[in-house]
Amino acid sequence: MTKTQETVLEINLAALEHNYNFITSKIKPTTKFLAVTKAFAYGSDACKIAKKLEKLGIDYFAVAYTKEGVELRNSGIKTPILVLHPQAVNFKTILEYNLEPNLYSEKNLEEFLEVAKQENKSNYPIHIKFNTGLNRLGFTKEAIPKIISIIKNNSTLHIQSVFSHLAASEDLNEKEFTNEQIKQFCEIKEEIEKLLSYPILTHMANTSGILNYPEAHFSMVRSGIGLYGYGNNPDFDKKLKPVATLKTIISQKHILEPGKSIGYNRAFIADKTIVTATLPIGHADGIGRQYGQGKTFVEVNGKKALIIGNVCMDMIMIDVTNIDCKEGDEVIIFGSEQSAEDFAKTANTISYELLTGIASRVKRKLLI
Ligand SMILES: *Cc1c(COP(=O)(O)O)cnc(C)c1O
Repeated sequence: MTKTQETVLEINLAALEHNYNFITSKIKPTTKFLAVTKAFAYGSDACKIAKKLEKLGIDYFAVAYTKEGVELRNSGIKTPILVLHPQAVNFKTILEYNLEPNLYSEKNLEEFLEVAKQENKSNYPIHIKFNTGLNRLGFTKEAIPKIISIIKNNSTLHIQSVFSHLAASEDLNEKEFTNEQIKQFCEIKEEIEKLLSYPILTHMANTSGILNYPEAHFSMVRSGIGLYGYGNNPDFDKKLKPVATLKTIISQKHILEPGKSIGYNRAFIADKTIVTATLPIGHADGIGRQYGQGKTFVEVNGKKALIIGNVCMDMIMIDVTNIDCKEGDEVIIFGSEQSAEDFAKTANTISYELLTGIASRVKRKLLI
């Protein structure tokens, strides 16, 4: 593999295919697979990722916001797209781009119905979300008769799926809570199926739900983080391959005599002579200040180098005293020996936050 000459986020589509195949091997052949490509496909490149997944035969996509769905449509994606968190101001755009809204409250169902009627839609696919314990978005079970009467009153809307979301599928200490969510969702599914004259999709499992709760697969599963190579568990992590690798280079080296400081506010002061390297990546690129001051390392020529001093907007400084390296050498921030999960952990956060926070100014480079 050629060495990088600037800061890049490499996107490995072969790794994506591997992860897709691994997750597919965990579900029944008849179970549908929805890929979550919100937040720029977890910081990578939503359009390129979606294109590859469409080729692999994905059944559905989900994004968080309408704009993300519009971008997929504009890049030629034809697969159905569920918008997980639509706002009423975008309902016309949703219809225009053939996106499918998650409707989670009576207000938002009535508002969407109104706009769909104005646009003379019939049997327009919608998704109804139920709250089974996350207490974020969703109808309660008690709202079922009302929802069904609103839908059945006219032929404008068609319930494509009914779904819910698990609160702690990665945490096996919360098994009892999760089982209760699954039980509630089963009851919701049964009640709705009794009242509707057509079949619907049902889904509640995210990546950890897929891996830890086969009984929660229903007729479709939704995977985000797993497709990008992380399984919220060291055993699953071993089976998955990180799609994104963040790399940069050494811009300059310095020798720091004892007593000399480095960076803003002199946050690091050398107690012996050390050698430092400055890298062209900072908090504006998504490597936040929480990773500074000796908490996190990066990889230089196969060795670990600690980030020292404060993280600057466009640069970080690392300690390379015991590392054979020179200006221009490649540095791996995460996605190789050290995963995004390991890197994130040093600042008490999770791979999701680190990956989705990589700024748009970092060049994405596709490895095919
Ligand atoms: C983000 C999201 C997912 C994907 O979760 P992962 O843990 O990344 O697999 C699934 N469902 C909903 C409703 C989400 O918001």
